[in-house]
Amino acid sequence: MAGPRPVRAPRGTELSAQGWQQEAALRMLQNNLDPEVAEHPDQLVVYGGTGRAARDWNSFDAMVRTLRGLKQDETMLVQSGRPVGVMTTHEWAPRVLIANSNLVGDWATWEEFRRLEALGLTMYGQMTAGSWIYIGTQGILQGTYETFAAVAAKRFGGSLAGTITLTAGLGGMGGAQPLAVTMNDGVVICVDCDPRAIERRIAHRYLDVRADSLDHALRLAVEARDARRPLSIGVLGNAAEAVPALLAMKAPIDIVTDQTSAHDPLAYLPVGVDFAEMRDYAAEKPAEFTERARESMARHVEAMVGFQDAGAEVFDYGNSIRGEAKLAGYERAFAFPGFVPAYIRPLFSEGKGPFRWAALSGDPADIAATDRAILDLFPENESLARWIRLAGERVHFQGLPARICWLGYGERDRAGERFNEMVADGTLKAPIVIGRDHLDAGSVASPYRETEAMLDGSDAIADWPLLNAMVNVASGASWVSIHHGGGVGMGRSLHAGQVTVADGTALAAEKIRRVLTNDPGMGVIRHVDAGYERAEEVAAERGVRIPMREG
Ligand code: NAD
Repeated sequence: MAGPRPVRAPRGTELSAQGWQQEAALRMLQNNLDPEVAEHPDQLVVYGGTGRAARDWNSFDAMVRTLRGLKQDETMLVQSGRPVGVMTTHEWAPRVLIANSNLVGDWATWEEFRRLEALGLTMYGQMTAGSWIYIGTQGILQGTYETFAAVAAKRFGGSLAGTITLTAGLGGMGGAQPLAVTMNDGVVICVDCDPRAIERRIAHRYLDVRADSLDHALRLAVEARDARRPLSIGVLGNAAEAVPALLAMKAPIDIVTDQTSAHDPLAYLPVGVDFAEMRDYAAEKPAEFTERARESMARHVEAMVGFQDAGAEVFDYGNSIRGEAKLAGYERAFAFPGFVPAYIRPLFSEGKGPFRWAALSGDPADIAATDRAILDLFPENESLARWIRLAGERVHFQGLPARICWLGYGERDRAGERFNEMVADGTLKAPIVIGRDHLDAGSVASPYRETEAMLDGSDAIADWPLLNAMVNVASGASWVSIHHGGGVGMGRSLHAGQVTVADGTALAAEKIRRVLTNDPGMGVIRHVDAGYERAEEVAAERGVRIPMREG
């Protein structure tokens, strides 16, 4: 049996495979397992609990070997992280087809999945772990930035300058909040009960300062807000006490959300429990701990609703805190919305989602050149320009240099074609891989997240991600994946991904034009079908054909 070893994608223009499509898949598989990128590379775990790039080390070796020998008219089939076949196809076909973690409906539970995983028959693919297009924490930062930009657009004239946001949770994902708010020119107070979380975020420059108390935090926040100066302030405390206390102080808060790990009541600190004792207490008395955590979450959510009643913009950031508060008996827990229906769905209606690309040269200068190309292509989009500029200054690359930004229907194809031209004319040193997260406009069915509260009630309809994968295969993507589970868990989502390689050839230009039009086009048609007016407008303006609206 082959075992763990450090993996790093080769850089530069020397090919070890038969063409750039295969080389790209090979390097991105390896890049996902680069120790700079993956959370637990020894176990082939990239991110998100146990999201893996390959089922085991033998499967990894077999995929590397197969990709190196794969011809231009062949396709490797991957079943949950293991290569199971090579078939003769044609040059427009994907070089790799991937299906990860899929189970038949009634069997789609964690128990059955773990039983099959223990037998070595499957693996958890998460979203971009098993489909080889994870780019590290830049993705989280940008998604959070985009959400706060959408809040700014909805309520505050397009900028958070002159506003104060209150949130909690400075952990793995939540730690992106302070930087995302200041990148939108706002002021933010972030409460966390773990002093190390605050220190770590300051050390990584995601958080600006630490306040000594709530009074101190509020004073700093108001000063910065009045000067319209962006500032992020960490303060130690329990959110279930701090948020009600700030409400009682009539703190002038404009936006309230939360990213404590409320989805797991054993990871939320109850009021009256010392942070130092939290872990042992949760392990020794899980039922009692859960009850106390839920009661505290109810107080926390009640105060969030209080801020909403006082006029603040309040939303749930995908951590199930409303559901937990409701379980504790707080009736108004769902008085404020989840972030997807509140801010992201209008973007999805335009086919907008987390478009991303990576430079196979390994040279950061290639990403800097693509950044300039994006600024040049979309000069009217100020939020995009601000993100690209700040990302260039502040985002530290993990593994192959990469960039993420939200682009929609009619935009992604233009960006992709420009990148392909830049490869062809030598502006870029090597090809670019262009993909996206599975969390996209028309590629996911997930009733607790991306498809929560669809206008026509179609939250659980899972035909859309399957159609999305098929249309990407038919359009010439370089690799296509269909996954189950992702960020919300077994039984709760189906989602699809695509990656297309810009290798500078005329054939790649043709494929890019189709894939990067049709893929976001799925977002537009999905939302037209569900009755979203914005999607109808986009379809009409940009020429997306909807048979039921024709004739
Ligand atoms: P994490 O476990 O790394 O961090 C959670 C933080 O919350 C920790 O720093 C902890 O000290 C703090 N905390 C716990 N209880 C607290 C309390 N009572 N008061 C103050 N601080 C408290 O988790 P993470 O990866 O940052 O994710 C946070 C949550 O956001 C999770 O529930 C996750 O599922 C959710 N999430 C949602 C989305 C999305 O839908 N967009 C994306 C990412 C994460």
